[in-house]
Amino acid sequence: MDTQEAYQELGLHPSATDAQLKASWRRLVATWHPDRNAAADAGRRMQSINKAYQHIRQLRDGSLDDGDDRADSGAGAAPSGAAQAPEPDTPSKTHVRKVRLSLEDAILGCTRTLRGHFTHRCTACVGKGQRVLAKACGTCRGSGAVRTAALFGWLWNEEACADCGGDGRQRERCGACEGSGERAVAYRRQVRFPAGVRAGQVLSVPSARHGDMDIGLELQVEIEPHPLFVLDEGGVLRCEMPVNGYAWMAGCWVDVPTPGGLQQMRLNRDALVYRMNGQGFPTTPRGPRGDYIIKVVPVFPAQDDAAQDALLAQLIEYSTRAAAADRTQPMGQWQRRMKRWNSSQKEATRDT
Ligand SMILES: [Zn+2]
Ligand SMILES: [Zn+2]
Repeated sequence: MDTQEAYQELGLHPSATDAQLKASWRRLVATWHPDRNAAADAGRRMQSINKAYQHIRQLRDGSLDDGDDRADSGAGAAPSGAAQAPEPDTPSKTHVRKVRLSLEDAILGCTRTLRGHFTHRCTACVGKGQRVLAKACGTCRGSGAVRTAALFGWLWNEEACADCGGDGRQRERCGACEGSGERAVAYRRQVRFPAGVRAGQVLSVPSARHGDMDIGLELQVEIEPHPLFVLDEGGVLRCEMPVNGYAWMAGCWVDVPTPGGLQQMRLNRDALVYRMNGQGFPTTPRGPRGDYIIKVVPVFPAQDDAAQDALLAQLIEYSTRAAAADRTQPMGQWQRRMKRWNSSQKEATRDT
């Protein structure tokens, strides 16, 4: 069927408006619908009417190339070159999300596998979930209307066909999205976080193809609070740990947590703050590691402990004896000076 024939079938001039086109088609459908018209060729006429209507609709929608009808340059002709549907674009998306790293991961650098998913409008059906075919709707036979019986079948009502929405064209469920109008795309990316990455830093991961979608990532870094370490405002890694006061006095070795694991450190009773060079947080992202500062808090057991008191008494007695025997010991020197002074006081009292 060419365009001229289509207009003739509908009894219209090519300059007819869309409203006139629809009105004419409805009128013809009402006349020729096989449900209403007993004529032998009613079915064939109906097909012809719908074919003509679809032809002109597609021409006016720009979805049909009017190549076979050069003579018809009227208002109904589609502009040449406008017939092709545009190529569907690849949907793209930048997923902005937070990533929480442990302090150790931030100090040493780490690789994380990130997963996520998106839904986007189906490009095959433009989100409609179905596609319109170039043939008549099977339910209403292309008329766009169905009859429902009323008053015991003596009268009937005309209603728009639910299957085609009233335009008489057959629908097909979109296979690409299974009729939902949306496509789900899952992604899985391996991302490398450099040593020294800061809380609040944003890392951009270039987009890559996942399914039928280009997905980029924008990662906002968060650092989890650590049970042992504190990263201070200046980017210095610190740890404050209690130590046995006697062990501290005795200069014992103790286990100290570091980002690389436990390490042995020797306590020194003259020091409360210790520094481990190059074991702290990197001074700049990807830069050398700064120092790790450990502050020890000597803790002494409770005072009302009889066993401890007895041990302390022994220790005091032992150290007092040792001091008395050593002429260079300040405690021993002091004891002797005090004794001499005390006895000279007694003699002075006797003389008066
Ligand atoms: Zn679809
Ligand atoms: Zn229908």
